[in-house]
Amino acid sequence: MDIQTKALHVGYDKDTQGTMAVPIYQTTAYEFRDVEHAADLFALKELGNIYTRLNNPTTDVFEKRFAELEGGAAAIATSSGMSAIFYAFANAAEAGDNIVCAKQLYGGSLTQTAHTLKRFGIEARFFNVHNPEEIEALVDDKTKVIFFESLTNPSIDVADIEAIVAIANKHNILTVVDNTVATPILCQPLSYGVDVVVHSASKYTTGQGLAIGGIMVESKNILEKLKDNSRYYHFNEPDESYHGLVYTDVGLPPFSLRARLSLLRDLGAVSSPFNSWLFIQGMETLAIRMKEHSNNAQKLAEFLESHPKVKKVNYPGLKSNPNYEMAQKYFKDGRSSGLLSFEVGSLEEATKIVNATELYSLVVNIGDSKSIITHPASTTHQQLSAEELIACGVPSGLIRISCGLENADDLIADMKQALEV
Ligand code: PLP
Repeated sequence: MDIQTKALHVGYDKDTQGTMAVPIYQTTAYEFRDVEHAADLFALKELGNIYTRLNNPTTDVFEKRFAELEGGAAAIATSSGMSAIFYAFANAAEAGDNIVCAKQLYGGSLTQTAHTLKRFGIEARFFNVHNPEEIEALVDDKTKVIFFESLTNPSIDVADIEAIVAIANKHNILTVVDNTVATPILCQPLSYGVDVVVHSASKYTTGQGLAIGGIMVESKNILEKLKDNSRYYHFNEPDESYHGLVYTDVGLPPFSLRARLSLLRDLGAVSSPFNSWLFIQGMETLAIRMKEHSNNAQKLAEFLESHPKVKKVNYPGLKSNPNYEMAQKYFKDGRSSGLLSFEVGSLEEATKIVNATELYSLVVNIGDSKSIITHPASTTHQQLSAEELIACGVPSGLIRISCGLENADDLIADMKQALEV
């Protein structure tokens, strides 16, 4: 079945009213038939709804459908992309462990890994996503995760997924990939051997900038990596907090099971039923939208590349881009999503252009149906000196665009007039 068909149907079998739209089960808790039923649910002898922090029928559709799009075994929806990322780490690592991360990460992921996890005793070590061989010198027997983004935000690089997975598999370490920008429509990291995929659903999944959320999907093969692997002893030994459950012995997808029973239970960053419903609406059109986002970004990138005021354009769909080969290899039909950046001569020029555009909104978000323009040097990277900006690949004349779903000719015309102000 094609991914577009799955995005419309998987996980929902119409309720007793024949409701076409997935209903929003806006409830905190669920009534048990009797004491035995309640006891069976808590003991996992029977699977069912207990409390919305643990499970919810609307969120269940979102999880099942998203897992299917990624080609995974199961998913856990969370209250934000940041919490999905944190759950992936917290499910695998504990104080004294380390995780190995690409340097080219979303800013929130960089601060979470380098600073916040450090406070919990988990060390983050960094490699250049273009040099996966650097990973070899960073891993040891305390390494629990290798983490990277398939299509990086904001640097717009494409990871060589197979090369990184090969190193991780050699050491029997879990790989976790943030697939937010590519989405499962363009790239399915699990099909290249990745173990866990995480997303900010706040971007292309909702698609219209409507809600904050996240999701974590585990691969169908993760049991092979966890079972009897001393690195992940906590999946193989009885969990005293869940009356001695051994996650790899239950016959259910173990990574999500542990995340649900332990992390959702104890940390509670759960998706609200209403937000899950919004993500389901977004998924129905995700495949169509990703085609259009990519087509628009490709056309705008080609226009910018031909403009004399533009020094450089970063878009993996351009033949001139160093990520072009990787994009052709890993992205469906080479489509490279809606994110691009370009560089003009100076901070002053960039400021003028950003202020002169009319169709592009000055916002720090991506993946909206409305186009977005960002000037990193005056916002997200404001505290850095001119030298530091260049060192981290964000020169002061850099402008980032998240291409929306407007007509491409209108986007180009607006950018043309802004460049000529
Ligand atoms: N991952 C990527 C690639 C992102 O771009 C973002 C947000 O911009 C996040 C994760 C964090 O997601 P959220 O804002 O939903 O917590």
